[in-house]
Amino acid sequence: MLLERPGTPLREATLPRPVPGPGQVLLDVLACGVCRTDLHVADGELPDPKLPLVLGHQIVGRVAELGAGAGRFRVGERVGVPWLGWTCGVCPYCRSGRENLCDRARFTGWQLDGGYAQHTVADERYCVPLPQSYDDVAAAPLLCAGLIGWRALVAAGSGERLGLYGFGAAAHLIAQVARHQGRRVFAFTRPGDSEAQAFARELGAEWAGPSDTPAPEPLDAAILFAPAGALVPVALRAVAKGGTVVCAGIHMSPIPSFPYDILWGERILRSVANLTRRDGAEFIETVRQAGIRTWTEPLPLARANEALDRLRRGDSLRGAFVLTPD
Ligand SMILES: [Zn+2]
Ligand SMILES: [Zn+2]
Repeated sequence: MLLERPGTPLREATLPRPVPGPGQVLLDVLACGVCRTDLHVADGELPDPKLPLVLGHQIVGRVAELGAGAGRFRVGERVGVPWLGWTCGVCPYCRSGRENLCDRARFTGWQLDGGYAQHTVADERYCVPLPQSYDDVAAAPLLCAGLIGWRALVAAGSGERLGLYGFGAAAHLIAQVARHQGRRVFAFTRPGDSEAQAFARELGAEWAGPSDTPAPEPLDAAILFAPAGALVPVALRAVAKGGTVVCAGIHMSPIPSFPYDILWGERILRSVANLTRRDGAEFIETVRQAGIRTWTEPLPLARANEALDRLRRGDSLRGAFVLTPD
């Protein structure tokens, strides 16, 4: 499925089978998760995508062929391809363990073709080995919703009382990880979304309610998965002194101005950007230990536009859409 121009629907297309370059693997795509970021690329909210482009950066694939010099995986092995597809390796960010901030980084399904396809190629160094205990569809949401959520959770610090704003694909995984770590989870959803609130409680949230009501008690940290800037002052008001508010999305609507006193008291407001390979390794290890469950709605690849439309509408959704090639 091909994006030819932002703002237009994806088009079904037949492309030549990609050829793996040096250090790359050719993958048969088994499943590809649909992420809100795909929507931001498709809608033109992220600048300068490769065009035409194959979206998708939560790819579960089977190695079909090795490019020259590739040897990390064997043909037939199952691997994951996340958002971070390539970094320069030599800039100050790359050399200080912050390859997620590399100015020359290339991202899967943005500057590089992704997984809304039957085949794709990926640099083997950025692929993620996947736990066997997850089937193809179940493993897909780990690769972005889980991974970016994990980076946000680490950035939120070790406080016990954790607020999650927006209870979708990422929050449903991170709530389970946070519970596994012994934290208390407070889930904030769109007003009226009682289904998402019930889902949050099912996953161990001790409180779930609409984002326009105050938290039942001060929080130590809050993560904003919803791309709504209006929630930033709301979350700052919800955290105690010294608390951290983490914006986990790659795109957010404008943040309204707010009085300094809700930041005062050493509250921290920060974003997380992308992921590092180390985040991937740590998160997969955590997943193995915590045994978290993913909720998915599989759809055939040909229905990618429907998945994007429903995500755009916020069509009440448990977990994540995952596309499977026919
Ligand atoms: Zn770099
Ligand atoms: Zn994503």
